[in-house]
Amino acid sequence: MDSKQYIALEEKYGAHNYHPLDVVIERGEGVWVYDVDGNKYLDCLSAYSALNQGHVHPRILNALVEQAKKVTLTSRAFRNEQLPFFYKELSELTGYEMSIPMNSGAEAVETAIKLVRKWAYQVKKVPYHQAEIIVAEGNFHGRTISIISFSTEEYYKKEFGPFTPGFITVPYGDAQAIADAITPNTAAIMLEPIQGEGGVLIPPSGYLQEVEKLCKENNILFVADEIQTGLGRTGKLFAAHHDNVRPDIVIIGKALSGGFYPVSAVLADEPIMGLFQPGEHGSTFGGNPLGAAVARAALSVLVEEDLIKKAETLGNYFVEKLKEIPSKHVKEVRGKGLLIGVELNPEAGGARRFCEVLKENGILAKETHDNVIRFAPPLVITQETIDWALPIIRETLLMN
Ligand SMILES: *Cc1c(COP(=O)(O)O)cnc(C)c1O
Repeated sequence: MDSKQYIALEEKYGAHNYHPLDVVIERGEGVWVYDVDGNKYLDCLSAYSALNQGHVHPRILNALVEQAKKVTLTSRAFRNEQLPFFYKELSELTGYEMSIPMNSGAEAVETAIKLVRKWAYQVKKVPYHQAEIIVAEGNFHGRTISIISFSTEEYYKKEFGPFTPGFITVPYGDAQAIADAITPNTAAIMLEPIQGEGGVLIPPSGYLQEVEKLCKENNILFVADEIQTGLGRTGKLFAAHHDNVRPDIVIIGKALSGGFYPVSAVLADEPIMGLFQPGEHGSTFGGNPLGAAVARAALSVLVEEDLIKKAETLGNYFVEKLKEIPSKHVKEVRGKGLLIGVELNPEAGGARRFCEVLKENGILAKETHDNVIRFAPPLVITQETIDWALPIIRETLLMN
C-alpha cells in the first residue's frame, strides 16, 4: 500500500477531527521519521512536545518492554512497586513535595481544577460552589467539556455547550487585567507560561512574577499548565523558571512519558495535594506500573542526556539563524529553548502552505493558528541537523 491508500482508509473509517499533513509515518528514530513510501523527515513538531527525548528512545523502550513483561496494570485498588519511585523521583526532580498521576494532559488539567476548588472550600473558605478560576484568552488546556468551557477559540466550543461555569477570562500577558478580575471567591489563576497552541506567545517579561505576587497578596493559587512547555522544552525544567517563579501547582504531561504512553501528573506541596481524600478523585489507568516505569525512564533520560541545557543552547542558535532569513513573509521569529514560532505576515497566504512545502523537502512542521509555523524538534537534535534543516527552511520562507 502507498500513502494514498492509507489516507483513503483513514478518511473513510475515522472521525475527521484532525487535518493532518498527508504523510503516513511508519517508523521513528531520534529526530527522524520514515513514511510508508520510504521518505525520511526531520520531525519538527515532536508530537506537540511529547517527544522531547526523541522517537523510540532505547532506554525508555527498554523500560517499557521490561515492565510490560512483569505487570502492566494493577488499578489503584492495590499498590504497585513502580509508583512509589515515580512519586519520589518526580518530587526530587521538580522540588514539589507530592504529585498525582493521570494519563492525558486534559485529565491532569481537570484534576488541577478539582484540587483548586477543593482548596478554595477547605482552606480559603469560599462559599460552596462559588469558586472562580481566572484564565487567559487564547489558552489551550485540552478538550474536555469543562476545559473548552473557558476556551476563547470559537470552533473549539461553538457547538458543544452547555458549559461549566466558574471561569473568568482575561487577556494574556496583562497583570492589571488579572488584578481587576480578582474577587473574594477567586481560587486560582491558571496559565500557560508560554502559550504554545496559541502561537508560541511569550508574555512580557515580569508578567509571571506579577501574577505570582497577585496570588500571594490575595491568597490565590497560581497554577501553571506546563504540559507543553515543561520538562526541558524551553531550556529550563519548567518555563516558569525563566522568570524565577514557583507556581503553587504545576501540570505536566506529554514528554513525561517520552512519547511512549500517556502519562500526566499534577504537582503541588503537601498542604495542597494533601487535601484529596480517598474516593474523591481517581483513574483506572492513572499511576499504573507500566506508565510509572516509562515515566521514570523518560525523566532520567532528560537529566542524564542533559537535554534541558541542549534545548537552551540549540534553541538560541536555531532562533538566531531563523532570524537571519530575509523573508518578506516573516513578521517575527520568537522562541524559548526549542519551542520556536515563526509568525508570518497576514499576506503570506497562511502557514499551512509553507508546512506543505517543508514536508516535500523533508521537514515536518505544523502550523499553529493560521499564521505561525512552530519549530519544536526533539531535544536530542544536534547542531549538525539544525544546519541541515536551515537551508531548506530558508528556501521555503523565501518562496513567493
Ligand atoms: C497538549 C496540551 C494539553 C492537553 O493534553 P492532552 O494530552 O492532549 O489532553 C493541555 N495543555 C497544554 C498547554 C497542552 O499543550
